[in-house]
Amino acid sequence: MHRFFIRMDNIKTDEEIEILRENALLVSRTLAEVAKHVEQGVSTLELDKVAEQFIRDHGAEPGFLGYEGFPNSLCISVNNVVVHGIPSGYRLQEGDIVSVDCGTKMKGYYGDSAYTFAVGRISPEAEMLLKVTKESLYKGITQAVHGNRIGDISNAIQSQVERSGYSVVREMVGHAIGRKMHERPDVPNYGRRGQGPKLLSGMVICIEPMINIGKKEIYHDRRDGWTVRTVDGSLSAHYELTVAVGRDKADVLSTFEFVEKVLNNKN
Ligand code: MG
Ligand code: MG
Repeated sequence: MHRFFIRMDNIKTDEEIEILRENALLVSRTLAEVAKHVEQGVSTLELDKVAEQFIRDHGAEPGFLGYEGFPNSLCISVNNVVVHGIPSGYRLQEGDIVSVDCGTKMKGYYGDSAYTFAVGRISPEAEMLLKVTKESLYKGITQAVHGNRIGDISNAIQSQVERSGYSVVREMVGHAIGRKMHERPDVPNYGRRGQGPKLLSGMVICIEPMINIGKKEIYHDRRDGWTVRTVDGSLSAHYELTVAVGRDKADVLSTFEFVEKVLNNKN
C-alpha cells in the first residue's frame, strides 16, 4: 500500500530497524502463505482471510485493515487493476496476474510488501511484464545506499522499465516506513539521477514499482473509492520490498525468498 504523500528526515535507530525487520519478515512469510493458496477458483476474499489469520497467529495486526478506512487485510489487484483492489468474491482464473500487497503492524511499527502472482499459465507478454517489474525493483534496491539520492533509485527503475516498452505509474509512489506506514520521503518510480532527497544510512523505505504494459494513465474507481485501474485496460504489475539504506549496500528487510520457495515447489 502507498499513498501520495506525507512528512522528513527519517533515520531509524538499530533497534527500530530490527522491529521493522520483524514486521518485514512477517509480511514476507504471510505472502508465502498466500502463495500456497493462489490458484484457479480461489476467491480473493479467501486469500484475504488466509493472510489475516496468519498475521494474527503470529502476534501482529493486519496493517491495512481499517487504514484510512480500507476494509480488508490485503490489497488484491487483478490484471488491469494497478493497486488497492478490494478482496471480493471474484475467483481467480487461469491466466490472471494478481498483485497481493500485504501490511502488518507489530510493536508499534509497520511492515509492507507486495508480490504479483501468475495464476496457472499466463501469456508470454504477462510473464515478461512480471519479470521486468521485479527486475526493476532489484535495480532500484542497488541504489539504496548512503549518499545517493532518491532520484537514483527512481531512475534505475524507470530506465529498466521503459527500455522494455512499459510505463511507470506516476500518481502513486513508494515511501519511508516506521511508526506510520507512509512516511517521508516519497520514493517515486520515475525521476532523474542525482535529484531528490539524499539517502542516509538508517532510512527505511519501501520501494514499489507499479508498472503498466500499456500507457501510464490510471483512474480511481469512484464507487469503492480505492480500486486503481489502468485507463487503457492494460495489465499492470506491482512488487514491493522494504529496505534499510546502508553505508555500502541496502539491507533488504523483506524478502521474496519464502514466496518463491512455495512457487518453485508448486511447479
Ligand atoms: Mg504495499
Ligand atoms: Mg508501500
